[in-house]
Amino acid sequence: MTKSEMLFERGVKRIPGGVNSPVRAFGSVGETPRFIASAKGAYLTDADGNQYLDYVGSWGPMILGHSHPAVLEAVEQACRKGLSFGAATEAEVEMAELISDIIPSIQMVRMVNSGTEAVMSAVRAARGYTGRNKIVKFAGCYHGHSDAMLVKAGSGVMTAGVPDSAGVPVGCTQDTLTAVYNDIKNVEEIFDAWGQEIAAVIVEPVGANMGVVLPEEGFLEGLRRICTDHGSLLIFDEVITGFRLSLSGAQGYYGIEPDLTTFGKIIGGGMPVGAYGGRKDVMEMVAPAGPVYQAGTLSGNPAAMAAGLAQIRLLRDTPDFYEELHRKSERLFTGMEEILKEAKSSYQLNHVGSLGCLFFTDQPVRDYASAKTSDTKAFAGYFSHMLKEGIYLAPSQFEAMFVSAAVTEEEIEKTLKAVRKYFL
Ligand SMILES: *Cc1c(COP(=O)(O)O)cnc(C)c1O
Repeated sequence: MTKSEMLFERGVKRIPGGVNSPVRAFGSVGETPRFIASAKGAYLTDADGNQYLDYVGSWGPMILGHSHPAVLEAVEQACRKGLSFGAATEAEVEMAELISDIIPSIQMVRMVNSGTEAVMSAVRAARGYTGRNKIVKFAGCYHGHSDAMLVKAGSGVMTAGVPDSAGVPVGCTQDTLTAVYNDIKNVEEIFDAWGQEIAAVIVEPVGANMGVVLPEEGFLEGLRRICTDHGSLLIFDEVITGFRLSLSGAQGYYGIEPDLTTFGKIIGGGMPVGAYGGRKDVMEMVAPAGPVYQAGTLSGNPAAMAAGLAQIRLLRDTPDFYEELHRKSERLFTGMEEILKEAKSSYQLNHVGSLGCLFFTDQPVRDYASAKTSDTKAFAGYFSHMLKEGIYLAPSQFEAMFVSAAVTEEEIEKTLKAVRKYFL
């Protein structure tokens, strides 16, 4: 028995499913989760001493690779000054200024502790500002685990949202309307029916929680136009895409300005951080400036701010950081495409920047329904092969592959060799 297997056996006795977040259990790929002991650069080391080339990066935050010395140093220094004060600090002001300097749509920002919290709070601010209740979300987009966002995918236009999880009262999701990703006509229909009641549309500007689904030409522009026409707010959930697609996220990459944006993952440099921000007139609704209540004992935590500030400054100050990362990622994804073509496999490889996803289907993947046509058994076989080759992919078909800056050309070639071995 491996150490990971033993730890999992102990874990399941005391932690639901043995893990503190479901996908970590490797359930959909039929493997035992690897328990990670440490990580450095592009590599994870598990409890048994096995090394894996990491394409998950803690689900996004570790865009610089693991244990970056400048980030660690910043956290160590902050820790020595005290772990939490429950009072305002300079680092929080610096963080707010840094984000609003980088991202034009952010005039004000509030720090929280997770992406879930950021979304929940942004939705509340949007409702408080507009005085409306309904929220439009897209099937297959994930916005954290707050009640109103856990709505069954694929609900029709006129159907009130049906909760996707036990323990969520129908009352909590009755104002959540579900639309089809990349289908602007569908969004127009929803607005024809409910326009006056819709507080906001929330969208992942690149869908990265149903595998990776790119916004088609006109989709984000269409959402911007519809929201403006109806006095509804457009919320970009950039928890994954923020500081990843470009320094100014997907909004910078695609040139669309949302009213509110949510952040998480990269913004914390590996520490538990989230943030929401945007238009001043909306953000001034948030307590204590305004009547929308939102608070957090550990929000803006000094060690967490230090990690985020160090990482974001590195991203900003490293010349050609994104060009270089995207070029390497492009080499990986086009290399995979060549192999799959040669193998004559039924596949779709969706990718943008350092995000990608290989779907085992012959249908173009452009929304939740087409993502679901992927053969998840085939994915599981591929996943297990890659893991044996020492390459750590997200243990689910419906997650992204994250390329970090720590991955070298040589490691890209090594990855392609492992892919080739599986398909050819
Ligand atoms: C991960 C994620 C969230 C939730 O963030 P947590 O920090 O896990 O709560 C929300 N939205 C998107 C797009 C995400 O990828």
